[in-house]
Amino acid sequence: MKKLWYYKNNKEIFDFCEDYKKFISDNKTERECVMSIRELAKKDGYKDLKDIIKSASKLKAGDKVYATNLDKCIFLFKIGRNPISDGMRILGAHIDSPRLDLKPNPLYENGASNIALLDTHYYGGIKKYQWTALPLAIHGIVCKKDGSTIKINIGENDQDPVFCITDLLPHLDRDTSKGPESKIVGENLNVIIGGIPLDGDVKEPVKASIIKIMKNYNIEEEDFISAEIEIVPAGKARDMGLDRSFILGYGQDDRICAYTSLKALLDSDETDNTIVGMFVDKEEVGSQGASGMQSLFFEDMVAEIANLLGESSPLAVRRALRNSYMLSSDVTAGYDPNYESAFDKNNDAYLGKGISFNKYTGSRGKSGANDASPEYIAKLRNLLDKGDINYQLTEMGKIDQGGGGTIAYITANYGMNVIDCGCPLLNMHAPWEVSSKADVYEAYRCYKAFLTLKSE
Ligand code: MN
Ligand code: MN
Repeated sequence: MKKLWYYKNNKEIFDFCEDYKKFISDNKTERECVMSIRELAKKDGYKDLKDIIKSASKLKAGDKVYATNLDKCIFLFKIGRNPISDGMRILGAHIDSPRLDLKPNPLYENGASNIALLDTHYYGGIKKYQWTALPLAIHGIVCKKDGSTIKINIGENDQDPVFCITDLLPHLDRDTSKGPESKIVGENLNVIIGGIPLDGDVKEPVKASIIKIMKNYNIEEEDFISAEIEIVPAGKARDMGLDRSFILGYGQDDRICAYTSLKALLDSDETDNTIVGMFVDKEEVGSQGASGMQSLFFEDMVAEIANLLGESSPLAVRRALRNSYMLSSDVTAGYDPNYESAFDKNNDAYLGKGISFNKYTGSRGKSGANDASPEYIAKLRNLLDKGDINYQLTEMGKIDQGGGGTIAYITANYGMNVIDCGCPLLNMHAPWEVSSKADVYEAYRCYKAFLTLKSE
């Protein structure tokens, strides 16, 4: 197998990555991802499963349907020629990313400084200091008592204001610079929102002026309690490096796998087995909740589809799940030349060397791991080698250095074959993560080939 960069037409890789950069720049929350995925799927002829159930029509090979839950996760199904009980080919990625959420009562004014701030609660595993001293944007929705919803997206256009969490200047950090990072930043992930006081004799005049500005958006202070507002890095994903080999962008964990899986699904021809794209929420906090992978929503949707295909017995649904093959598409840690001691150079993933497979994740003695079977890996090797697809079999850093998990162990509960695979990243979980364009393209090619995987 030749190295990716040398046998591929770079233009093909670079063009593909232009659309990817746009996707992650335009979609920085799970809701925004669901909306975009749904739009792209609809354009490709996918129909809402709800409507098909309501109209009592049937499904057949070649039909395409989507199912969304709470606007925070979405599943795409393209019906294959074989009965669904023969199993599906599933690409599963998560669309939530580490970020800062606003607290229910976030807005306050610091009296001494006359600065108004928004208090946040972080989501997912972050290194808190990385979120200070950089431009931030506000994305989300506010749900009003009258049932209406207001969408918010401030900080992405050049004319928009941006926001910031401050860090202490080096001149004054003698007390704090030697402490653990959590102590330095601690609870102080507060976003500056304004500094002009309202005129007249007003208590908390800056806060009052911010509340007045919010009224222009039809938002009252008490509306924060029924809002879902996320603070994310402001700005677009960019090419990185003089040779433009890398992409620096927010939320690549795991929208890099979500986007490439989606593209593979949309570009695929009709297949023998039903093919599925899973785009789920809450992976970064353990996959709980109705929109997370642990929810029964996926299973329910498979049952609905089996029913519409005339395979309505509970056993057919169990067989459909058990006979499936899945790629749990998630990023892994790329070998970082600045932190070599955290890695095992013979067993870690390298950027630019193709898509990375992790037989197991977990931590310490493989605790929490889904351990993919060697039989399944052999089957994949055969498929990937035939397709001349570059891949690596890797672990995530040194054994006792840390660890991590994905959604693989959850779908493995059905008895299906599932393995983790995705692009290696540098700076994973930082506001700006680094990927290799070559890997983005190779992930797409891998996912596309996988959808044609035969049972025997
Ligand atoms: Mn992930
Ligand atoms: Mn993650």
